[in-house]
Formats: sequence, C-alpha cells, structure tokens
Amino acid sequence: MKYKGLNLENVKNNNRSAILNILNNLGAMSRKDIAEKTGLTPASVTLICTELLEEGVIYELGEMVEEKRAGRKKISVDINPTYKYILCICIESNETYITITDCKGHVIKSIVSETEKSMEPEDFLVKIAGDSTKLLWEVGISKDKLLGAAVSVPGKVDRKKGISLNTFSIWTKPVPIADILKKELSINVVVENNLKASAESELLFGYGKDHDDFVILKWGPGVGSAIIMRHRIYQGSGGLAGEIGHVSLGKGGKKCNCGKTGCLETELSVKAIKEDMTAAAGNKTKEKKIMKDKLNKLAFATRNYVSLVDPSKVILIGPMFDDPEVYAGFVKAYKEYDETVPDCFFARSKVAFNASHTDPLATALNEWFFSK
Ligand SMILES: [Zn+2]
Repeated sequence: MKYKGLNLENVKNNNRSAILNILNNLGAMSRKDIAEKTGLTPASVTLICTELLEEGVIYELGEMVEEKRAGRKKISVDINPTYKYILCICIESNETYITITDCKGHVIKSIVSETEKSMEPEDFLVKIAGDSTKLLWEVGISKDKLLGAAVSVPGKVDRKKGISLNTFSIWTKPVPIADILKKELSINVVVENNLKASAESELLFGYGKDHDDFVILKWGPGVGSAIIMRHRIYQGSGGLAGEIGHVSLGKGGKKCNCGKTGCLETELSVKAIKEDMTAAAGNKTKEKKIMKDKLNKLAFATRNYVSLVDPSKVILIGPMFDDPEVYAGFVKAYKEYDETVPDCFFARSKVAFNASHTDPLATALNEWFFSK
C-alpha cells in the first residue's frame, strides 16, 4: 500500500477541493456557511477563498444576502463560470460530439458529426482537432482560456496514459488519443471510458450530489455499470469492477468480444436483440417473448448484483432505458425476483440526457478543477 504523505500542501489542496465541491453541490453561499458545511475553520475558509478569488476561480456575487439578525449583511461566493472553458469531446460508435462549455456546464456551442470508422483513427482525431479549433475560433475563445479537452470513448481506456486500448465498436487497436490531440491543439487532454465518465457526471451533477453509495446501470448499445462507493467510483484491481455485461449466463453460449463465452452482453446488446428480432420475422408473439426473456435476464443479473453491492439506488441510463416501456418492463421483471423493492429504488438519471457534454466535462473538472 502506498501512503500519500500528509504535508501542508496536501491539506491545503484538500481544503480547496472541499470548498469547490460544496459550491458545486449547493450553489452560492457565504464564507460562514462554507465553514459550517465543510467543517473547516472560518479562518482557513477566508484564506482559501481569498486565494480562489485572486485566481478568478470563484467570484463574489453582486447582491448582498441579508442575515436573519438585523444590521449585518454577508456576501456570497460561487464558482466563476467563465474562469475557464472546457472542450468536451464525446466519441460514440456512430456520432462524435464536440461541445464547448464553461466551468458550470453552460453550453457555449456544440457540433455533431459522423464518427468516421472508415478513416484511420489518427486521421479521424486530426479532423476532430481541426473541427475543435474552428469551433473555438467561432465563439472567440482562445486556448489559454481552456482548462483542457476531455474525451469520452467506449471500451477500455488507460486514463493515465490517455490511450484508448480498444473501443470494440469504432477501432480495435490501441490509439494514443491524448498524444494526438495534444500535438494538434497544444492543450491538456484527458481520456476516459464513457461509462466511467457518466459515473463522474452523476457524482458531480446528479444523484451523487447528496448520495455516496449507488450503482449506475447502462443498457444500450452494450450492458455496463459503475459502482459508486463512498462517493468514489470503485475500480477493482484492474479497473473492471462493475462489468455486469460480462457476468456469466452459464456454460457455453455465444463468444463475447471480451474473449469469454456466454456473457450477459452477448444476449442483451442492442445488436443481439436486433438479430433475435429479425429472426422472429415480424411475429408479434415471438417478439414479445424475446423481449420478456431479455428483461428477465437483466433483472436476474441485477438482482444478484444488488445483493452483493448493496446500493441505495440503481440509476438507469442508456438508450434502451430511454424507452418508457423498456424501463417499466425492467422494473416489473426485477420485482418478480424481489417483490419488496420500492419503485423509487430505480431512477432515471437527471443528467444523462446531456451525456455528450456532461460526461467529458465531469472528467475534465475532476482532473483539473476540483483537485489541484
Ligand atoms: Zn464478455
């Protein structure tokens, strides 16, 4: 086990991070309230806030908030949205989104284009860099006003090295995304797997604002999940914790792209469902039976998963759950394994509909804003 030395610089950075997190979660407040909420002394809150004000990270709100006791007024501080901007790049199997946001997630401008799978990944990324430069120029944001670029991609990612190891659906070889974009754009670049980025986004902007232990379940195009434990994403020994798509349905079965056979995903991916539906040749009874079987399999796996992880809630995301009928069907199927579960144990994410920018944004903020 490695221990991070407890030196004054670390303590200061942790306190700085605590203040920024509380402002992100609860919005503008006075220094006095920050001290109360974080448990820091008023003196250190004042000191760190002065530093953050000088750097332009936070700003004082124009209006004065009257305190309950007459005669005294207090000034609120909040994260300064225009302190820096973020270039959010979300590469999905069919589309790629490029969005410029400010520090609070307001969208300045966004474009979407086709993910060109026929191009060499290096050439495609050079094109993305060119589109990004054009977009920045159009909105008049110079590179020194950028915190950096964050990229979310499907599949295996080495975040430390900024490499996409295998997206499965777009390219199957390792691609040094961070190096390519850094060379083209001359800015910081961070790369993260799309599901991990969704978990970061849920932690910063969604359910994680006031909950520490929950699970995210994503359905479509594959099946995946993330475990949030004590307000952190649980990674496991090799970063593969929560890979519910690769739990076994039993011996045999179809070969999965992870190399094993009989994984849940081989039956439940959108591609597998489409294939089964095509084989049903429009027979409505057969189609209904197929869907019921899929929902049952996912409910069964989730039921066991919940017993092991004990989350306070399961947040359902992904295009399959966007269909209200599928969502309701899943909850119904789950109840057949646990009739005591309340409906509110499952919830739709309140942020995932903006995933194309909130996911990479959350990764960027965690990388460069909330920690220093
Ligand atoms: Zn698998």
